[in-house]
Amino acid sequence: MRKAKPNRLLQGLVDEHAQRAGLGLTRHRRTLDAPVGVHVQDRDGGSAKLSFLSNDYLGLAGHPDLRQALADGALQWGAGSGASPLVSGHLGCHADAEAALAEFVGAEASLLFITGYMANLAVITSLLDHADDVVFSDALNHASLIDGCRLSRARVVPYAHGDLQMLQGLLLAHPGRRRLIATDAVFSMDGDQADLGSLLALAELHDTLLLVDDAHGFGVQGPQGRGSVAAANLHSERVILMGTLGKAAGLSGAFVAGDARVIEHLVQRSRSYIFSTSPAPAVAAAIPSALRLIAAGDARRRHVQALRTCLQEMAAQWRFTLPWGETPIAPVLVGEAAVTMTLAAALAQQGVLVAGIRPPTVPLGSSRLRISLSASHQLEDLRTLQSAARMVGFEVDSA
Ligand SMILES: *Cc1c(COP(=O)(O)O)cnc(C)c1O
Repeated sequence: MRKAKPNRLLQGLVDEHAQRAGLGLTRHRRTLDAPVGVHVQDRDGGSAKLSFLSNDYLGLAGHPDLRQALADGALQWGAGSGASPLVSGHLGCHADAEAALAEFVGAEASLLFITGYMANLAVITSLLDHADDVVFSDALNHASLIDGCRLSRARVVPYAHGDLQMLQGLLLAHPGRRRLIATDAVFSMDGDQADLGSLLALAELHDTLLLVDDAHGFGVQGPQGRGSVAAANLHSERVILMGTLGKAAGLSGAFVAGDARVIEHLVQRSRSYIFSTSPAPAVAAAIPSALRLIAAGDARRRHVQALRTCLQEMAAQWRFTLPWGETPIAPVLVGEAAVTMTLAAALAQQGVLVAGIRPPTVPLGSSRLRISLSASHQLEDLRTLQSAARMVGFEVDSA
């Protein structure tokens, strides 16, 4: 038998992995052996830990009503949807969920997606598909918006984070056939919020559409948790809202809501909608229950807000900055990736899990510990976090 040739591709992957490991950039999955919650247990053993990792902002992922709604949905509609929506996968439960979502956010129509990632790809690539089209994108937008921009055939014009003056200049400098401004409503790694009112004013002045990614605002912001667009009181055919159902809503999936003409265009043209199997019927069937829980969630939202305020007071004694904010996402700015990961590991040793976020997720030199608050956290959990932070040297006088 001849000796096999060296597999250069696989060797290349191994080399690349070793290089990443050398830079401390290897990513690890944690296997948790319990439903989503604030107290988690690693499958590999060790003691239970207090988690500030999930996006389950209202604590609904484990809610008995949602579990029941999923079970009922599966019994009524079956386990799988069987096909893509334009073939035979659009069932009554999907149509009902879309109607309920549109009504909840005050839009003419909505369209259900398997993930927010797919929804963002759908909107950007189907609206902009020509070299004369232009998409204006905030520099800190989520990866799914960035990938939507890349995949569209449009010219991509980034603007500095939240810099509306720069955006205005770019809108004047880049005319085009069709134009879209794309922004996170609540920025996922910073927890700060876009000025949606001013963005819409620019969109109207310069005849563009405005895509608002409300992954972290839906369920949390606005009256009855109706989201960031409702919070800003925007009513415009120019606004296209993308909301996810895997975060505050406690389920999975996403929706796009807006003007009926835009939604119809997505049905006709968006490849990530047309060429993918419809969401599991049980998930669609549970959406009205999730919306009821969100609407009735004022106490949960007030509780998260109170936790955020308390965390801000705690952080005043830390040697790292926690920028003031009003969302459940609290970034503790550390700077160096290696220091950030060491701190995250030290906190884990103390039984507290926070996310160490480093490049490429955030810009170089802006690595951070991301604390994600949930209505399931108690004030006592923040005290536990505070003593762990003290143990690993967060406080100024401990330096
Ligand atoms: C999580 C997230 C998405 C993607 O939503 P999925 O449903 O998880 O795919 C999109 N945009 C932002 C800002 C997000 O945080």
